[in-house]
Amino acid sequence: MDNQEQLQQQLVALKQSYAAKLASELASLNTLANTLLDSQEIESVLSELHQKLHKLAGSGGTFGFPQLSQAARELETQVQALLHTQDGVNKPVLDDLVSRVAALHEHAKSVNQPETMEKPACVPPSLSETRTIHLLATQVETANDLKKELVNFGYSVASFLTYTAHLNELKQGKIPEAIVIDTDFSADVADYFAHGRELFQGEIPSEFIFISNRDDFRAQIMAARVGAQGYFKKPVDIPKLVDRLERTFNQRDVAPYRVMIVDDDIDLACHYQLVLQRAGMEVGVVTEPTELFAAADELRPELILMDIHMPGYSGTELARMLRMRDEWLGVPIVYLSAETDLQMHIKAMLNGGDDFLTKPIADNYLIAAVTARVARARQLNNLISRDSMTGLLKHVNFKEQLVTELERSRRTQEPLVVAMFDIDHFKKVNDTYGHGMGDRVIKALAHLLKQRLRKTDIVARYGGEEFAAVLLNCTVEAACDILNDIREKFAAIPFMHDELSFSCTLSSGMATNTEYPDFSILEAADGALYDAKRSGRNKVCVALRKEETV
Ligand code: GH3
Ligand code: MG
Ligand code: MG
Repeated sequence: MDNQEQLQQQLVALKQSYAAKLASELASLNTLANTLLDSQEIESVLSELHQKLHKLAGSGGTFGFPQLSQAARELETQVQALLHTQDGVNKPVLDDLVSRVAALHEHAKSVNQPETMEKPACVPPSLSETRTIHLLATQVETANDLKKELVNFGYSVASFLTYTAHLNELKQGKIPEAIVIDTDFSADVADYFAHGRELFQGEIPSEFIFISNRDDFRAQIMAARVGAQGYFKKPVDIPKLVDRLERTFNQRDVAPYRVMIVDDDIDLACHYQLVLQRAGMEVGVVTEPTELFAAADELRPELILMDIHMPGYSGTELARMLRMRDEWLGVPIVYLSAETDLQMHIKAMLNGGDDFLTKPIADNYLIAAVTARVARARQLNNLISRDSMTGLLKHVNFKEQLVTELERSRRTQEPLVVAMFDIDHFKKVNDTYGHGMGDRVIKALAHLLKQRLRKTDIVARYGGEEFAAVLLNCTVEAACDILNDIREKFAAIPFMHDELSFSCTLSSGMATNTEYPDFSILEAADGALYDAKRSGRNKVCVALRKEETV
């Protein structure tokens, strides 16, 4: 059973358990209402009744009882009015309330099955560590050459010499993230796409890039018609091709959204959690408000769904508390409540909230609301913290994250490595081939670093042609292998200028937190980079207390 099915089953189980508990909840509601008739403490009974009805109004709809939810909401409003009345509560009004609760109880007995589940919303593709590319080239030599170049960038590449062989691969469910096709647009290509469409009852779910000897209009329109993301005339400029591939990947590449739910109603919180997880998000639940900060520090949520009414604390108080700390100043807080009072919404929004969703919330609506807000927040964050040319972190943000990671490693006792990279004699590239070419070299190294390092590692453009990375949970020995591999791969990238190709090299320095446990690690790595430059460039050096070179 895959993860999706598992989540779906958990959701169904949660609904069933809610339905099972519902009968006794309503019975106890009914009993409570009946005590109104001979109680001395009418106000406290009303207040308890109000709380129960409020909860029922918020959760009923979510678990498949929308009518019940609606009826509970009407009663809730009635009870609230009684709680606030100045005239004292008279017997006929109470009788009326009690009989309405009894009717609710009766009605619920007849509908003890929840209505059908909503269809799950579309699920974003998961993030894999290595990109897979299929290469379709009928000439062995072209296939081998291109494969070698792409493997150099850290992609996993499989090549196919015939269209039939590739269709067979697709039939077995092996679907790559991108397909690069070398073709002069013979009839075979049209056949291939026709079969592909049949196979998938629609388009083949990969990105396409064409490389060809032809660059006439007819050839390009054929590529466009099958939805190609790129078109390159041979000889192929590899860094440009990679740049295009990366741009395409970035569009599909959505690291899971991180969302935190703060709600004292465990059933409801679990339901929201499962719904969002099913949509591919990472979700943490806090049912005990005092654990809010610890949970937030751990998950680093990009959005917080906050209940308004919780015993002991209100959602608006918690939102204010979060806003008192710099790191939680920018995170969107969306209130979730069965509250329909507009004044209440306004008050909540003025207290550090960004929006208000009224329970019950349809599953797909919740997913859409969360997705839209996290996507926007991410865009803004990226604009602020990422370098526009390479998409990597900027200098300042790198330093911030380094501090966080140093602290985390101290807690977990895991080793980490800080690495610095600098392109050798880069000025000469600019001077000889122009600034535009220089930019392409910088981008190529950025792509290589992104591909070759892990998704969890932190990679930044530290300065013009200087990069920095934090390799998490990584020893010096492992880092040495990785950095040397990056160094070799970078040197092997052919950059094309006027049909001629040239290459570049880089120098790198690194330091580990087992030797430099604090911020001095950065200076140490920089020192090691300087050593690499001084000892001839195209080298990786490591900062050890007793100066050693690798
Ligand atoms: P070394 O081997 O010692 O690192 O020599 P170098 O020439 O690479 O050293 P230096 O750091 O002095 O030169 C870096 C050059 O990079 C200077 C600057 O004009 C250029 N540069 C900085 N940012 C960019 C950029 O975004 N694009 C381009 N094309 N060039 C840049
Ligand atoms: Mg340099
Ligand atoms: Mg430099």
